[in-house]
Amino acid sequence: MRQSMYLVLEPGTLMVLNILISLISAVAFLAVALRRPHATRSGGMLLWCFANLAIAAGFFALLLPAFVSFRVPALPGNLLIDAGTLLNFLAIMRYLARPRRDLWVLTPAGLLVLVEIGYVLADYENMRVMVALGGSLRGLLTIAAARALWTCADESRRSVARIAAAAHGLWAAVLVARMLWWLVHPDASALEDPTTGFGLIARILLTATITPCILWMLSRELDAQLFHYATHDGLTGLWNRRVLWERGERRAEQVRALGGSLAVLMIDVDHFKRINDQHGHAAGDLVLIAVAREIGRVTVADDFVGRIGGEEFLILPGDPDAALGLAERVRAAVARLEVVDVPGNAPIRCTVSIGHAEQRDAALAWERIVGAADQALYAAKREGRNRVRSATAEPAVEPPLPPMTAARGSRLPETLRPAL
Ligand code: GH3
Ligand code: MG
Ligand code: MG
Repeated sequence: MRQSMYLVLEPGTLMVLNILISLISAVAFLAVALRRPHATRSGGMLLWCFANLAIAAGFFALLLPAFVSFRVPALPGNLLIDAGTLLNFLAIMRYLARPRRDLWVLTPAGLLVLVEIGYVLADYENMRVMVALGGSLRGLLTIAAARALWTCADESRRSVARIAAAAHGLWAAVLVARMLWWLVHPDASALEDPTTGFGLIARILLTATITPCILWMLSRELDAQLFHYATHDGLTGLWNRRVLWERGERRAEQVRALGGSLAVLMIDVDHFKRINDQHGHAAGDLVLIAVAREIGRVTVADDFVGRIGGEEFLILPGDPDAALGLAERVRAAVARLEVVDVPGNAPIRCTVSIGHAEQRDAALAWERIVGAADQALYAAKREGRNRVRSATAEPAVEPPLPPMTAARGSRLPETLRPAL
């Protein structure tokens, strides 16, 4: 029985497997670090690459006595595995953006390394003490890494982070079991230690689990980034036109099916070209960011806010009945805004004109209500800017809207104009 278990858990073979799997992981992390350099800044892919290289080198050093005739001390191999464990811990802390205070384990870990080195240099290589020192050091770092993974703040990555945490927990449990075995069998020889094989298997499992888990989490992160770029405006961080149009069409469909109403506010910064001309394009950008922030401040979570182009914004108010009130709050908030582009310069001020449209009929079409809001915005501009005009509500529709100009009216098909 002992003999067959030894064959299954043969440490030499398990070490070779550990070396191979660590090298494969190192190459995978290196490939990510080189091909996606922007991901490595937050993710510490190079740290994982070096962690795996150190572990592969450590097992290689421990395996060396099988191939050479001279005596090879176990210390360098063990220290390399310690270094790999430490780098793995640092990579996880960096990847999960944990605060510096969570690195406190480095202090006891550093002390344990010094004691381990001092002990071996004093010419002792007592297996029991070596296992106790190495096990405590690796166990400490591994449990801290498991804890950080288990409490991963990002919900979208948490389930996979917990699988990686469980693999760390398993290795930590085997390390503890190993220390306990040597506590009970102080005089045993290394060959009698049944926990070595289990430790090496747990280490293989850890590498085989953490590598795909981290790469999977990274791909989720990149997916989320791509989604953000595809749906948000790069300058203001608001939703982009595509998302607004999708959302608007969906809401129009809901109104057609379930009743209710849909309101749209179209907002345009007044004489924005002048701001660019007088203060420069960069200052114009600051004004757009400030206007977006101001709109964000006066809207609530239910309001859907986006930038549809240049200096134009659109709001789908969560409560259509309160849309006109919201429009007035946005107008007043922007009118109070003061943007300082260069300290010491007079602040830049601006105003917005807002077109409001609301519709509740069953034949409601998104393009039609947007066209109506556009027309109302045109009326607000024509009447002097810095005001809210409505295409549907009284009394804002008077005076009657003029015939549409080619510039704004061209967006609206002839058949939809009666909606105004
Ligand atoms: P109106 O009151 O009639 O709306 O006049 P306006 O000057 O605001 O309108 P116009 O359409 O003539 O000018 C809009 C300007 O917005 C022209 C364009 O250069 C500028 N613009 C568009 N996108 C951006 C941007 O992202 N940043 C900056 N700084 N300017 C932009
Ligand atoms: Mg405009
Ligand atoms: Mg404008």
